[in-house]
Amino acid sequence: MQPAAGAATDVAPAREDLWTFHEGEFTQYRNAHLGLLTHALHYGTACFEGIRAYWSPNANRLFVFRVAEHYQRLKSNSRMLHMEIPYSVEELTAITIELLRRNQFRTDVYVRPLCYKATEEIGIRFHNLRDAFMIVPVPFGSYMDTSAGIRCQVSTWRRVDDNAIPPRSKASGLYVNSALAKTEAFLNGFDEAIFLTQEGHVCEGSAMNIFILRNGMFLTPPSSENILEGITRDTLFTFIRDELRMPVVERPIDRSELYLADEVLLCGTGAEVTPVVEIDRRRIGSGEPGPATQRLQQLYFDACKGRDDRYAAWLTAVDI
Ligand code: PMP
Repeated sequence: MQPAAGAATDVAPAREDLWTFHEGEFTQYRNAHLGLLTHALHYGTACFEGIRAYWSPNANRLFVFRVAEHYQRLKSNSRMLHMEIPYSVEELTAITIELLRRNQFRTDVYVRPLCYKATEEIGIRFHNLRDAFMIVPVPFGSYMDTSAGIRCQVSTWRRVDDNAIPPRSKASGLYVNSALAKTEAFLNGFDEAIFLTQEGHVCEGSAMNIFILRNGMFLTPPSSENILEGITRDTLFTFIRDELRMPVVERPIDRSELYLADEVLLCGTGAEVTPVVEIDRRRIGSGEPGPATQRLQQLYFDACKGRDDRYAAWLTAVDI
């Protein structure tokens, strides 16, 4: 039976019953299988996206955030990694909408598309291997503590360089670098890691971009600093310029500038807009989430959740 309109939240199928999209078909999770020798599992020869859909109890719909930009990035990155996704951005969006509907989600959802080398064969390469594609949507709440803020450590692991594995590619293998940094930070009692580049400049978090506020100006590393060119980062550029009416500058950032910042935030589809209140045991600003970060967070959630009509063009509404 369907819940009454607007009444139910947090309604989602059990994992085994989830509808997924795999190898060109809608398949329930329990029926989708990969072989033990799947190339991508052994060599990380895959690339992925992370897309969020927010459930609005008031509108009784899901809102998918900037879905076209995510699929455009995935298609471009796949091509860079010698893979081809046989669907257009419009087709991928339509498949995603169908998946959200089939699952009857009445909760926030994280959508995980993955393009991967499916051949079950030993041998390291990208060429002469079969490409496959899946989309798995999962119910998903907050990835980080977006209200109290988080404590970070500058990682002892350096960010992979563009000439090694391009961080802008979102290649699966790249995330070994992220996982090393994240787990080191966790084991040391921190919430998240901040990478430096090989040159020692501030880069990004394990799966999020970074902004610092210093002397009334937002700073963030440019795309040439081995970052992922984040869609949330791009969204914040709009908010900082158009709403906060503050300057935002892309330039290399020194490590010590982190400690002198008035505010620091991490942002990403998973991380949303997360205040950083401590780095390497130094308090950032007042040690509480700062006013500019809180304002950006509010703008971000209002836009994503369909509460700000001015940004409706970023949303794809899905009636369940
Ligand atoms: N950097 C990395 C390494 C990431 O994995 C992510 C998450 N996709 C981000 C930044 C943030 O990107 P976006 O805002 O597009 O999710």
